[in-house]
Amino acid sequence: MKVIDIIKNSDKTVFSFELLPPLKGNDAGTIYRTIERLTDFDPKYINITTHRDELEFKEQPDGSIIKRVVRKRPGTVAIAASIQHRYGIPVVPHILCGGFSKSETEYVLIDLHFLGIENVLALRGDANKNPYISFSEKDEHSHADELVNQIVNLKQGIYLDRDLKNNTPLDFCIGVAGYPEKHFEAPNMEVDLAYLKQKVDAGADYIVTQMFFDNRVYYEFVKKCRAIGITVPIIPGIKPINMKNQLTVLPRIFSIDLPSDLSKELAKCKNNEDARQVGTEWAIHQSRELISNKAPSLHIYTYGISDNVREIVKAVF
Ligand SMILES: Cc1cc2nc3c(=O)[nH]c(=O)nc-3n(C[C@H](O)[C@H](O)[C@H](O)COP(=O)(O)OP(=O)(O)OC[C@H]3O[C@@H](n4cnc5c(N)ncnc54)[C@H](O)[C@@H]3O)c2cc1C
Repeated sequence: MKVIDIIKNSDKTVFSFELLPPLKGNDAGTIYRTIERLTDFDPKYINITTHRDELEFKEQPDGSIIKRVVRKRPGTVAIAASIQHRYGIPVVPHILCGGFSKSETEYVLIDLHFLGIENVLALRGDANKNPYISFSEKDEHSHADELVNQIVNLKQGIYLDRDLKNNTPLDFCIGVAGYPEKHFEAPNMEVDLAYLKQKVDAGADYIVTQMFFDNRVYYEFVKKCRAIGITVPIIPGIKPINMKNQLTVLPRIFSIDLPSDLSKELAKCKNNEDARQVGTEWAIHQSRELISNKAPSLHIYTYGISDNVREIVKAVF
């Protein structure tokens, strides 16, 4: 089932969570155990992240540059299909611009269609930290709106190769990312919102937000989106804090603020167990308020950890 239909057909807030594919060398058992601790609470769909290869570029004495892949994290399509078929819960694999050529993306979408997967989250992907990344030799999209265009074309049976004989349309429900506290590269909120609208105008069915810890930030964001004509559902992203160092790590990595009440509580924590308790209570409070304000769905970032997510969904659903 498509996420947009799940949301439209539900008269109350639904819940979903985001999982990472297992690290190479591990099996899917850990992911299954995470899901099984949450299935009692009837998650309506599950997101599976995608990660580009991590590259290292080394400058040689003659000035030339050698590229090496230092970490791979495959498995999104396989894990997504296995989850959907094992549990009967729709999945939303993430599809990235960065690190994938347009042709590789087309193949992935064909495979997802074969596997009965009807949802994708279209993202540019985290920028590669390496300064030489502009030496990309792949024919990849630069921004998520271009990726949305490619997926929308496939809905109409328009493939990259226009002379293709079997051009079966591939119909996907498309989600995109939005940033209530602005994407860190955007010069200002207005510009960021204009690009978000571009993704929606290209054919995105809904938006999922970056994590935020102050619901007022989300309400304000929704208001700004509506003011510029974005009408699609905007799903709030909730991250249950579970480690003390996230007090400084999350703002640095995700360019977000922690409200002072939360940061003071975390600063008082003696260890990760204390921080986990503070983070869980905060997420419960945030979720309850979002539900009472009729958020369409909650997207919970699990990072593979289910105990705190279980406590949250048990308390609020
Ligand atoms: C819910 C969610 C899930 C995520 N999952 C993953 C994941 O699985 N794997 C992963 O690697 N990363 C993931 N990310 C992180 C995401 O890939 C990064 O935040 C990335 O830096 C931006 O992705 P985007 O799709 O928002 O990019 P874009 O929409 O392309 O925006 C990126 C920046 O470019 C600007 N911009 C947008 N369109 C244009 C344009 N046409 N021309 C010029 N500028 C433009 C925007 O204002 C913004 O500053 C996720 C983020 C969220 C919120």
